[in-house]
Amino acid sequence: MIFDLHVHTIVASTCSNIDPVECVEAAIARGLDGICVTEHDSLEGGRALKQIAADYPRLTVLEGMEVSSREGHLLVYGFDREIKGSPPARDVIEVVRSAGGIVIPAHPWRAPFGWYSGSLEKPLEDTDFPELFSVIEKYNGLSSPEQNRSADEYCAKTSASGTGGSDAHVASDIGCCVTVFEDEITDERSLVEALLSGRFRAEMRDSYHQLWSV
Ligand SMILES: [Zn+2]
Ligand SMILES: [Zn+2]
Repeated sequence: MIFDLHVHTIVASTCSNIDPVECVEAAIARGLDGICVTEHDSLEGGRALKQIAADYPRLTVLEGMEVSSREGHLLVYGFDREIKGSPPARDVIEVVRSAGGIVIPAHPWRAPFGWYSGSLEKPLEDTDFPELFSVIEKYNGLSSPEQNRSADEYCAKTSASGTGGSDAHVASDIGCCVTVFEDEITDERSLVEALLSGRFRAEMRDSYHQLWSV
């Protein structure tokens, strides 16, 4: 199943111009099986799009969130409460994990919101949270090819798995980076299980290369 795990809409991300219906239809047009809506510090978008997607049985819509932690942006899946106020990453990890969710560093090498902005050479495994990085966002549509390559190299030299997500803020970017799962994803719970299993791979699609070719 092909999912875009990182999408913003106008429902709760003021920086996005993607209308919810446009989002659902663009995802279907790109051949995606599902999307996870990851508004900044809010679950509202996912909830709104789930209702809209009820009219589009071909597409699975899941709720997620991109939490602005003190140290950087974190993708949160499988957690049903909103996290606001830029808490320390440690607090986000603890509360999400204890509820059975998963926390994944978003665009880890992109300054200024990536986990390693400001210290790009520092290996991720040197942080206080080595176990956090068993899964990272490897391919992000708004990260440069160099930044995505750094993530790729990290995954290659460690046992980390890598997801893909467009980080779309305009509809044309939806699906430019995706995660291809071996198992069926039907809800947030099965998404977390699949992410923990490592049975998936990230892909950059043609629209990513077109976006970044000058
Ligand atoms: Zn971000
Ligand atoms: Zn984002």
